[in-house]
Amino acid sequence: MTGGPTAEVYRIDWLPGTDLLHGICHCGAEKVTEDPVGMWDWMLAHPQGHVPGTLHGQEGRHGPHA
Ligand SMILES: [Zn+2]
Repeated sequence: MTGGPTAEVYRIDWLPGTDLLHGICHCGAEKVTEDPVGMWDWMLAHPQGHVPGTLHGQEGRHGPHA
């Protein structure tokens, strides 16, 4: 490490009506899992298993508001 930027942004959303978490890495890779620990393991494992755009095309599937 050489003191690079630490501005990584992770975003994790809960999918309403499911037990699933939808995570987006700072690199653009997305993951859906019901295991929050697994989600963080995946986030912190970047770039291993990270393929930006993996879930491309699933945006917009928003259910009705509770
Ligand atoms: Zn990543």
